[in-house]
Amino acid sequence: MHFLSEDFLLHSDFARRLYHGFAANAPLLDFHSHLPADDISSDRRFHDLTEIWLEGDHYKWRAMRAHGVAESLCTGDASPYEKFLAWARTLPYTLRNPLYHWAHLELKRYFQVEEALDERTAKRVWERANSLLADDGFTAQAILRRFSVQVACTSNDPCESLDAHAAINRAELGFRVYPTFRPDNALRVGHPQSFAAWVQRLTEASNVDIGSFAAFVRALQRRHEYFHEHGARLSDHGLPYCYASPCSESQAEEIFTRARAGVAASPAEQEQFASLLMLFFARLDAARGWTKQLHLGALRGVNTQAVARCGADGGFDAVGDWPQAERLAAYLDLLERESALPKMVVYNLNPADNYVFATIAGAFTDRCPGKIQLGSAWWFLDQKDGIEAQLNALSRTGLLAHFVGMVTDSRSFMSFPRHEYFRRILCDVIGRDVENGELPEDEAWLGKVVRNICFENARDYLGLETPNLRPSKAQAAEHANR
Ligand SMILES: [Zn+2]
Repeated sequence: MHFLSEDFLLHSDFARRLYHGFAANAPLLDFHSHLPADDISSDRRFHDLTEIWLEGDHYKWRAMRAHGVAESLCTGDASPYEKFLAWARTLPYTLRNPLYHWAHLELKRYFQVEEALDERTAKRVWERANSLLADDGFTAQAILRRFSVQVACTSNDPCESLDAHAAINRAELGFRVYPTFRPDNALRVGHPQSFAAWVQRLTEASNVDIGSFAAFVRALQRRHEYFHEHGARLSDHGLPYCYASPCSESQAEEIFTRARAGVAASPAEQEQFASLLMLFFARLDAARGWTKQLHLGALRGVNTQAVARCGADGGFDAVGDWPQAERLAAYLDLLERESALPKMVVYNLNPADNYVFATIAGAFTDRCPGKIQLGSAWWFLDQKDGIEAQLNALSRTGLLAHFVGMVTDSRSFMSFPRHEYFRRILCDVIGRDVENGELPEDEAWLGKVVRNICFENARDYLGLETPNLRPSKAQAAEHANR
């Protein structure tokens, strides 16, 4: 088989039928990303391949550093072409890393580049991509349409303005962009300086005078409502592990007041404070029918000197190994006991937690199919082995057919082929079972399962409004004239 052929990753005839017949053309519902809504509302144009492809991409920086590339060519002030060339020189050495597949798939799907990128082909690829990027078909909005994105969700601090989201959705662009409520900063009483500054921002955003913990909670509630009005139906938290320590209102009040006065909460107090707030956030989500996402298990910024040089989210993170099971179970149980358990997607970063998360999820069910979901393979696990392992853990302990599927979790407009990558692996896994005689050769049924995992399950589960399916004004006028 040729590299990245039409049947890439599809090892059986049935897998090929599934992929080409049911998955390839399904629209995208990318319910977890870090795309900047401003770039979409302003319909950003990208001047060169470095700007759209390398800017902010800590996966690529990490590979470049591992290859011995100087920091000036990763996050530093080298010219765009020098940075691109350093990446092109690195790429051949990323063989068997998902970057090797992603990068070539991206070049092929965006710019029809058929040759492998390396030092020799760099100049040609650079010129071809840059000339296409000047075209109207490569603005932020055009890219979303090109990849049939029906809905994309961004990740937003509760203090952020959602004007850009409102403008996008008013404009009827053929897709919707919704915010996600990500209140990680509300938990940071261990860092009193930045916490006090953040509470000040929250005061301004919410118009609530935050003189007490009760007012703090009220302000957060008001922002949750504001997000809801802007179409948000998801929240998200990035935590090392779930917090479920007992904490009374008066204890939280005391921790809050001291943190605002500049006294850092102890690690035990931080957990207590976070536990109380996480229950509060879940109640808000449950009351409004939202879905909560938990990204658990990242050990962030392990190389402190490198973080000091290059900043957070620069590629110096690792898989953590905290015990997850009891805390996650306790958190869900507390919520279930007060009938305030929202729908939830839990993502593990440690591959050892696949079965832990999958089985805890399966213990909390109600009339909502797949109410607590094992999230798609995340970050270091978002690759061939990790995706298969996630699909297998979910299949063996729960109902794969109700899985809400893949997300890009990306900051880049070049990451949409990650859905294609996932879909090929999904079809290959099911196709293999058919070839082995472990599933019947029922194309209609298995095709429907695939299609649902690609799009329909997420649409039905999340309850996000999809673009208006009514014909546009132009189409309606054309129709009337016939
Ligand atoms: Zn994310």
